[in-house]
Order: sequence, then structure tokens, then C-alpha cells
Amino acid sequence: MSKLFIDGRWVGSSSGAEREVINPFDRSVVATVAEGTAADALAAVAAARRAFDDGRWSATSPEHRAAVLNHVADLLDRSKEDIARTETLDTGKTLVESRIDVDDVAAVFRYYGNLAGAIHPRVVTGAGPDVISRIDYDPVGVCAMIAPWNYPLLQVAWKIAPALLAGNTLVAKPSEITPLTTVKLFEVLAEAGVPAGVANLVLGTGSEVGSVLVESDDVDLVSFTGSLGVGQYIMRAAATSVKKVALELGGKNPNIVFADADLDTAVDYALTAAFFHAGQVCSSGTRLIVQDSVYDDFVAEVARRADLVRLGNGFDPDTESGPLVSAEHRAKVEKYVEIGLAEGARLVAGGARPTSPDLREGFFFRPTVFADCTREMKLVQEETFGPIITAERFSTREEAVFLGNDTEYGLAGGVWSQDLEKAQWVARKLRHGTVWINDFGPYLPQAEWGGFKRSGIGRELGPSGLHEYCEPKHVYQNLKPTAQNWFARSSDA
Ligand code: NAD
Repeated sequence: MSKLFIDGRWVGSSSGAEREVINPFDRSVVATVAEGTAADALAAVAAARRAFDDGRWSATSPEHRAAVLNHVADLLDRSKEDIARTETLDTGKTLVESRIDVDDVAAVFRYYGNLAGAIHPRVVTGAGPDVISRIDYDPVGVCAMIAPWNYPLLQVAWKIAPALLAGNTLVAKPSEITPLTTVKLFEVLAEAGVPAGVANLVLGTGSEVGSVLVESDDVDLVSFTGSLGVGQYIMRAAATSVKKVALELGGKNPNIVFADADLDTAVDYALTAAFFHAGQVCSSGTRLIVQDSVYDDFVAEVARRADLVRLGNGFDPDTESGPLVSAEHRAKVEKYVEIGLAEGARLVAGGARPTSPDLREGFFFRPTVFADCTREMKLVQEETFGPIITAERFSTREEAVFLGNDTEYGLAGGVWSQDLEKAQWVARKLRHGTVWINDFGPYLPQAEWGGFKRSGIGRELGPSGLHEYCEPKHVYQNLKPTAQNWFARSSDA
């Protein structure tokens, strides 16, 4: 049974409670894990606090911590197949996707493993010859990290790698429905030489365990990836102790196709943008916005190919897309199909569960395309987090930008055109944290990731993803202190 990792030891839940982890492909029980409690969360925070306060990690050099991160990356390479298989069992995503996830996670640890220089003190000039002034990049302290189920390993790794490099201690809480690869990551962290108490893991629900982390006065920063509603709660709760918050929330991401794009390629990417991992991607391009002169043919071709997507077991090499993560999540996606139909959107592909008997037990839903969508529809505005494309039309570039920005979110968007001046113009106007031109989906450890507007606060990855976990401290040393006599007259009186 997988356990909690507190103060360098694997421990069961203080209540003895357990949880079964389900394979979304066939509902079989993949593993049993300890279900943590509020008391376990408090114990983990206390361990992280002690480890931070005694300096067992923060007092080591950035180079030492970077070497540990590189060791983590090497161990991840070694365990890649085991971790990838576990991720597929837990989430239903294809094994190919899970392998990519493990490679990406190792790459993130390596990236931060080479960034020790970014937290060396920075000399500040301009105060004159008799002053030495510098910025130290201190760690923030105890960091709570709360992650979602769609990229369980990847999302928590984006937080852990920079936090450790900066010298913080941490308590991580994965989603209760996909905890297994985070457990494996903690085995790797311990083997790589992260000292006891520095990285702690609690399993359990958001309401029982997550909220304790968010509300604890001993936690200095909460980094959260998940839904807008929980993010709003975290921001409110953090106000009491004025904790730092980093929020990676939802998205409703436009994929804008101009008539002068390479349309065959754009169709291909429109499918990947929306149906990769069954649409359970915060940056998925489910809001398709197509120029009117090519709209009908483009949408018809997307719909035709959506019907051909092969659903199946993530371990089958022929599978192109796995199931949704849970029965509850599929019910939410199905509700959006009902909403779309009631709003007058025209269903041109999918819209139902597959009928194949092989898929009956899994939480599958067919790739779905709605045409004739308009901006005021709930289906267009809300994040469905499932395999549903809504297709809208535009005529001018200004209109494309208006629709692309017509969302409360601002995470990512794509633009397709062979006129690069126009594509760059659109990219400059879009209010999203990532914009792809003639592509959709790639990210780099070196490049900041995060959202404008209600997609979040702060950035992960890149140098900013490291500085989220640092407190810049100005140290100002006067080399020739002499009395200023500012209050000399009042002393004389
Ligand atoms: P969720 O908000 O339901 O849960 C996320 C995590 O928060 C889980 O670990 C959950 O247990 C925990 N949680 C729930 N209630 C809590 C509470 N009251 N206090 C503390 N923790 C609590 O989200 P989800 O359904 O797991 O994930 C899907 C969402 O995540 C989507 O909205 C998606 O867009 C978003 N997401 C965003 C990014 C990004 O980079 N911006 C990446 C992945 C997913």
C-alpha cells in the first residue's frame, strides 16, 4: 500500500483510512493508498517547518541542491517505464503520453539543476563608492503544493524542482484520484539525497488535507494547480496570514484559423489541440475560431476526422485517446453536451459514449464537435475539460482577436496563417500566457507558463518559475558610517 511520506518516513494514515485507486479504462482497482487526515497534514507541515528552520536544506549551497536535482532527473530516466505505466493505469492516458510526461519531468529537474547561478546574490550598483549593496535570493520557507489529476506527476514536478533549488521545504498533495506517480517521485527524491523533512507528501482529499495546508500559519506559500473555484477559495484563505499564492487555473483556449493557413496541417493540429488526453488539458484548444470563407469545409473535415479517433486502452499501441478520468467527470462533460444542444449549437461529431462493448466499463466519451457556436453560449465560455470542440466563425483579424480574448481566462491560444506579419499581429493582441503560431501545445522548461486574467497568478517554468520560490532580500552595507546629525538640534535642546 502506498503511504504518506512525513519527516523522511513512510507512514500510514493517522485514522487508518485507505482509498482504492481506480483505472479509468476498466474500473479495476490499481492500488490502495493511505487516506491522510487533517492531523497528518499538520504533522507534515510541522516536519517541513522544522526542516526549514534548522537550515538543513536552505543552508546548503545552490550548487549542492542543483546536483541533487540532476540526480533526481537521472533516477527518473532509470525508472521511466515503471513510472509511465503507473501514470497510464492511474489516469487512462496512453502510454506514449505518459512516457512523454516522464521525459518532460526529468527535463524540468535538469533545467533547474542548471540554474543555480540564477539565485546567486546580485550586486546592486548606484549607491556610491562607500556602500556595498546586494540582493540575496532567500527561500520563501514552507511551501504547500496542491496538484490536479490530469498531469499528476508533471504538475507537481513543476513546483518541486524550483522550490528545492531555491532552498525551500515543502508539503505536496496530489489529487486524491491520481496519487500514484507522486508517491514514486518521493521515493526518487529520497534516493537522490533530499534530506528527511525537506519534502513531505500527504495523500487525501482537498477538503480534509488540502484546506489544512492552505490555512496553516506555518505555511508561507501555496502553489496550486486546479480549478478556478478552488483557486478562488485558496486566495481568500491565504489572505488571513498573507501567504504568497501561485495559481495555475483553468483555460478556454482559442485556436484561430485564417483562410490562408496550411489548412491540412491546421485540421490535424485542431484535433490534437482539442482531443489530446481526451481534452483534459488546461491549455487544450477546444475553442476553434475559423475564418468564414473556409469555415464549412474546415469544420466538416475536423468532424469527419473526430469520428475516426481510436479510443481504447492506454496500453494498446493503436489507441489514440484514452477515457476520461472518472464517472463524475464524464457526467460533467455530458452535461455540457446537453447545454450546447439546448443553446442551439449544431452537433456534427460525437456527443455520446462509444458503443463498442470493449469500452463499456471505461469512462469513455467520443470526440465531439459542435458547429454554429456563438460567443454568448455557456458551452463556448466555460471550461468543459473534455473532448468537445466548439466552432465559431470570424471574418476580420480584429474580430478573430476579439473572439480569442472573449473569455474570463487567459492561458493559451493558437493562430494559423501563412501571413506571418498577420499571425504575429494577432499574437501580440492576444491576452493569453502562451501563444502558438502555426502550432498548438508545446511548452519548454525554459519558457514561463501561466495565465492572464482568471487563469492564474504567477508563472511556472523558466526563471520566473524559480523566483516564485525566492524572497529577494536587499542587504545594504555602509562602509564609512559617520553620524548624520539629523536630530542634532533636538538633542542639544
Ligand atoms: P480541482 O480544483 O478540483 O482539484 C485540484 C487539487 O485541489 C486536488 O488535489 C484537490 O484535492 C485539491 N482541492 C480541492 N478542494 C480543495 C480545497 N478546498 N482546499 C485545498 N485543496 C483542494 O481541479 P481538478 O479537477 O483536479 O483539475 C482540473 C482543473 O485544473 C481544470 O480547471 C484545469 O484547467 C486545471 N489545470 C490547470 C493547469 C494550468 O497549468 N493552468 C494545469 C492542469 C490543470
